[in-house]
Amino acid sequence: MSLANGRPYLAIPGPSVIPDRVLRAMHRGSPNIYEGPLIEMVASLWPDLRTLAGTTGHVAMYIGNGHAGWEAANANLYSRGDKALVLAVGQFGLSWANSARAMGIEVEVLDFGKSSPADMGRVEAALRADLRHEIKAVLTTHVDTASTIKTDIPALRAAMDAAGHPALLAVDCIASLGCDEFRMDDWGVDVMVAACQKGLMTPPGLAFVWFSEAARLRCDKGDLATPYWAWGPRAEAEEFWQLWNGTAPTTHLYGLREALDMLREEGLPQVWARHRALAGAVWAAFDCWSAGNPAIGMNVADPACRGTSVTAARFGAPHATRLRDWCETKAGVTLGIGLGMAPSTDPAYHGYLRVGHMGHVNAHMTLGALAVMEAGLAALDIPHGPDALSAAAGVVARALR
Ligand SMILES: *Cc1c(COP(=O)(O)O)cnc(C)c1O
Repeated sequence: MSLANGRPYLAIPGPSVIPDRVLRAMHRGSPNIYEGPLIEMVASLWPDLRTLAGTTGHVAMYIGNGHAGWEAANANLYSRGDKALVLAVGQFGLSWANSARAMGIEVEVLDFGKSSPADMGRVEAALRADLRHEIKAVLTTHVDTASTIKTDIPALRAAMDAAGHPALLAVDCIASLGCDEFRMDDWGVDVMVAACQKGLMTPPGLAFVWFSEAARLRCDKGDLATPYWAWGPRAEAEEFWQLWNGTAPTTHLYGLREALDMLREEGLPQVWARHRALAGAVWAAFDCWSAGNPAIGMNVADPACRGTSVTAARFGAPHATRLRDWCETKAGVTLGIGLGMAPSTDPAYHGYLRVGHMGHVNAHMTLGALAVMEAGLAALDIPHGPDALSAAAGVVARALR
């Protein structure tokens, strides 16, 4: 017996749920890419993309996923042999470091483990130790989607300033843009990377790099940027094709236009508040479940250090996998796998899972996913504390009072 028929819900940290409005906007034949409505529509994207990031700087768009966004940033930030300082608080920071290393960049990783926020004192010390200012840029994730740790970007900027180090600051907001508050210019961020399939609610396929004028000037003479990755022509194209160094991602652009309209209609502060409230509901449920079973627990202890778009939690192997399977096959909710959390001897990620609550999500989706998890815990006889659902509902009620 299964109760999974009905509209399924993909509650993973990307790709996220695609709104019907976005799907409808994309349902069209190939448009003319030389002149006409597509070109006019694309011109309207730039101001909204800047507003979304909180910047008056430049934006380059690429056909690609988040990994492409990393390579785009690397290719423009560095020359071969340049040095990068990477703050890693989970798998995604480490992966960005690997991508830089593979491109011939010398990478120093400050690894803070997988459950603790970055220690800005260590960052400042590492920068102070770089007496010859060889570090060209500091790379970090805003929210590392594997550990779900949120990095305090203003605190990082303050540490860089305190060290008096001129390195550029580049931030991966792939899991947080359109979910968690982010203010590129106010926070002193020089380069920001995102992709369209998480908070931006569009099918995977577009990557973005925002960059300040200062970053553009500093990186002008880099020798890593091939014609495809160079951000300059993409941000200041004279011809439409130069925006993508080839054919435009036509259909995706219509989807993105619609998604940006949705974000603008709701208003960014309200979008951030919605994610905070829904995350609060998820965290309240986990607090109750863990109270009855210490093997269950959110990966990040301090709520202030958690991203609001995704929650990672341990359930004790193999319960995470059992629960995910149950939720999907019995109740139509797909939860995310644990990523990069298990020791390498563990063949899979049976002890961790992630609940996505990013993008096109509302109270009934998040409360429904939690109720399904509660049913799964009961059906599978996984010990857990009581009252998770009323606690989650209480958070929603208080947010709306
Ligand atoms: C999803 C994600 C990535 C990778 O994006 P892909 O589209 O899977 O390549 C990188 N960084 C963060 C923080 C992410 O959430």
